[in-house]
Amino acid sequence: KTITAEDIKKSVKDNDVRFLRLAFTDINGTSKAVEVPTSQLDKVLTNDIRFDGSSIDGFVRLEESDMVLYPDFSTWAVLPWGDEKGGKIGRLVCSVHKTDGEPFEGDPRNNLKRILKEMNDMGFTDFDIGFEAEFHLFKLGEDGNWTTEVPDHASYFDMTSDDEGARCRRDIVETLESIGFEVEAAHHEVGDGQQEIDFRFDDALTTADRVQTFKMVVREVARKHGLYATFMAKPVEGQAGNGMHTNMSLFKDGKNVFYDKDGEFHLSDTALYFLNGILEHARAITAIGNPTVNSYKRLIPGFEAPVYISWASKNRSPLVRIPDAEEINTRLEMRSADPTANPYLLLAACLSAGLNGIKEAKKPMAPITSNVFEMSEEERAKRGIKPLPSTLHNAVKAFKADPLIQKALGEHLTQSFIDSKNLEWAKYNQSVSDWERDRYMGY
Ligand code: GLU
Ligand code: MG
Ligand code: MG
Repeated sequence: KTITAEDIKKSVKDNDVRFLRLAFTDINGTSKAVEVPTSQLDKVLTNDIRFDGSSIDGFVRLEESDMVLYPDFSTWAVLPWGDEKGGKIGRLVCSVHKTDGEPFEGDPRNNLKRILKEMNDMGFTDFDIGFEAEFHLFKLGEDGNWTTEVPDHASYFDMTSDDEGARCRRDIVETLESIGFEVEAAHHEVGDGQQEIDFRFDDALTTADRVQTFKMVVREVARKHGLYATFMAKPVEGQAGNGMHTNMSLFKDGKNVFYDKDGEFHLSDTALYFLNGILEHARAITAIGNPTVNSYKRLIPGFEAPVYISWASKNRSPLVRIPDAEEINTRLEMRSADPTANPYLLLAACLSAGLNGIKEAKKPMAPITSNVFEMSEEERAKRGIKPLPSTLHNAVKAFKADPLIQKALGEHLTQSFIDSKNLEWAKYNQSVSDWERDRYMGY
């Protein structure tokens, strides 16, 4: 059902909402917010809240720094925690516009809408996404900062864990449900302190908005339990990292066009073409889906994370897996992205690559039937299986060499992204780590 301005006004009254949090996302995927007291509600609902965008990463040059927030009413949520006096906080996800009313090109959310419009123009109605964002819970130190101590030493799907980690996970699930999430699964993951909570798939924009809310809830609830939640890709060396598997399907008038009951793995030709688009642009997509220096410490053999560009139905070593599912659940699961990705940019890039695949109508390479890590280098070469980029630097190089994925971000975001990543890589290169001292001090 659609939510109107009147519905929001009523909800503000009924729930004793005292503050309105107007959320948007910067180039790095970080949630930003302008918070105003409810006395400003009318201004909020008529797109009249302005802010200075010049200090937001990836936003603007100084001369055009005034920005306006256009709330998306359908995202209205009353957060389950309040202000100091017990009043509640209402949250709206916003699009960022320029003072002349035009959508601002540097807003990742607007950009995703632009690509979704291209999809509509091709005759498809929805790009449906299910994210599986993994994370770690660590104990908070006495100073209120994170430590690397975990609240449990449980493992995958452990049932015995009546510890702070498990209690916290249940609290997160209940909090998510209280603000309208349909949580489908929650379990301990392979790593110490590692958790996964999955909520039901929905259209791309809704799911991107939700994953931002999801991260906020996970962090807030963890703190209440004396824990610190991180979505960094590889918090502990030698252990499983955090992925954000991206399950994708494409709909036309309520029908999943990826599904064909007679197709191999129930995939339609459209799904195979889309898949080929993803595989062809996988290296550039990796820059967007795995945007930190640390992301590449996850993309190594041995931890269920992909390293090579291939696909399969059963095994978990390739980039894209086809889960065993039918009808509306038939989907492509891209396993490379991690939860440090900006979800709006990631979905814009994947959708563009897939739509281009549909336009080109080429079938992908044959699916693999054995573990890609166990193949010899010759065998992979023979099958045309290339590796994903091995560092952020190489991924950004691939992005710079891929005009289609740059177009998926548009000129403004492409430039901000490249600038931001070049700076990050340069800083990393200047840093000297413990590993280097341990290894080289004796030289
Ligand atoms: N944690 C693994 C990763 O880094 C994924 C595990 C799974 O298959 O859920 O992608
Ligand atoms: Mg998992
Ligand atoms: Mg998965």
